[in-house]
Amino acid sequence: MLKDMVHVEGLPGRYIQFLQQLQALADHETHALALSEKYGVKIRTGERNSVLLGPPSTIILEPWALNNPEIIIHELHHLMQKWSTVEAQLINAYGDAEEGIHFMELFCKFAEGFTKIPEPMMKKATARFGHTARAVRHMQQLSFTTLNVAMFRWVHAHPGAERAGFIFKGKGIQDLAVCNSSLPFWVGDRVAEPQILLPQTSYFKLPDGRVLGIVEGSP
Ligand SMILES: [Zn+2]
Repeated sequence: MLKDMVHVEGLPGRYIQFLQQLQALADHETHALALSEKYGVKIRTGERNSVLLGPPSTIILEPWALNNPEIIIHELHHLMQKWSTVEAQLINAYGDAEEGIHFMELFCKFAEGFTKIPEPMMKKATARFGHTARAVRHMQQLSFTTLNVAMFRWVHAHPGAERAGFIFKGKGIQDLAVCNSSLPFWVGDRVAEPQILLPQTSYFKLPDGRVLGIVEGSP
């Protein structure tokens, strides 16, 4: 999805490769503080949650955010955009005002699944359950993240693959992700029977009634 929105050729794919190399260097650490330490990132308090490239690369947190792993990971992703020059390329393409910032925040969201669900965790899940919705649910449980983040992670795992995923409850489509692929509906649409519309899809139903569907190739 990000791929279709960002008009800098190949940027999301290159960023995924960068993230995965960085993750390998940190032994696929997922704990926010341990990860910051492995990258040599300093953390200190300040007036506004933000980052400094440094050296040393620094995360500045408002006092309330000091023990919040979600905020630390988010700010770490801003640093990664600086390290990888993604931020510079986005500013070059869109400026540093609203649109550029919008894409930086999207890239943070994009990176979340890759940090929380590193490659070995994903391999473990797909070795056990194949490339199925059950495997994505397993990844979510192992990483304590949301189903949406786990779905996004699986869909975007390989920049060249054709993959799609969606979450619905009842008739309502709640979220979706596509990579070199497309789906016949959008978030917020009401679809009578997604299972009949997309029979090649792997489905998993959660106890709360939400259903995750994932599909490889063009549905
Ligand atoms: Zn941000």
